[in-house]
Amino acid sequence: MNYRGRFAPSPSGPLHFGSLVAAMGSYLDAKHHKGTWLVRIEDIDPPREKPGAADQILRTLETFGFEWDESVLYQSKRLNAYQDALHELARDGLLYECTCSRSEINAIGQRGIEGIIYPGTCRTYSPGSSVSNTPKALRIKTSEHPIQFRDGLAGSQTQNIAKEIGDFILKRADGLFAYQLAVVMDDAYQNITHVVRGADLLTSTPRQIYLQMQLHLPTPSYTHLPLVLNEDGTKLSKQSGSQPVTGSTVMTALKSAWDFLGQIDTSTSPESVAEFWTWAMDNWDTGSIKYNK
Ligand code: GLU
Ligand code: ZN
Repeated sequence: MNYRGRFAPSPSGPLHFGSLVAAMGSYLDAKHHKGTWLVRIEDIDPPREKPGAADQILRTLETFGFEWDESVLYQSKRLNAYQDALHELARDGLLYECTCSRSEINAIGQRGIEGIIYPGTCRTYSPGSSVSNTPKALRIKTSEHPIQFRDGLAGSQTQNIAKEIGDFILKRADGLFAYQLAVVMDDAYQNITHVVRGADLLTSTPRQIYLQMQLHLPTPSYTHLPLVLNEDGTKLSKQSGSQPVTGSTVMTALKSAWDFLGQIDTSTSPESVAEFWTWAMDNWDTGSIKYNK
């Protein structure tokens, strides 16, 4: 099977060093395997988006010498597909409406690996469409059956979604589709075979595999890269206002990302961006990445 990888930024701000690392890791792993590499803009959450950020990210990727092989996919153009997926899951009896407020959930839910575990309040009693004024989220029923997969760097992973996460949201009360649903639909739509991304998404992967199982979609292989952290150990993110990578020179930033990924010494690497990439594609070795978790 031909390798197909992708980089899938959310346009919530400019590309920062952490996203450069994810872009580089997914790009080089695809290119080292003579594969196809795609860019997808995950623009399904307008309240968190910054005007112009999608274009800015694409221009920055171009400046850094990344070359994507097919046209950019925008998730905002894929809402019908996400809605169809919800219909399929609903037909299979897997969805229910949830009217719980955040404070209601916080009051009874237990703390889990990712915030509060949804206690399942609406799973057995759902007011349904008769209560039309309350905003409703759509949740999927999860299973106690553990989801297992082998991560390319982190190794064997197991998660009991029902116990550790709870029934999770696929469509929010404000009408927006959830990341977990959109990412699964689009990885399948774009025939992605290898997902290489930041380790912040490691604990999301079982939910994505669970959705793939329910929607009869293939599961790609997953590799989660070490996260770039702030000096205080917190996650570097667009939201935390971390420095956009455009501040340093292109070669300096590329070499820093390469070094961060534990790759061979750059003392003999070419100085032009185009030649650097050819050299990097040849020398890329996931075995050298130090996994810091
Ligand atoms: N859009 C997500 C983000 O920027 C990444 C999605 C993914 O790689 O699966 O955090
Ligand atoms: Zn509820």
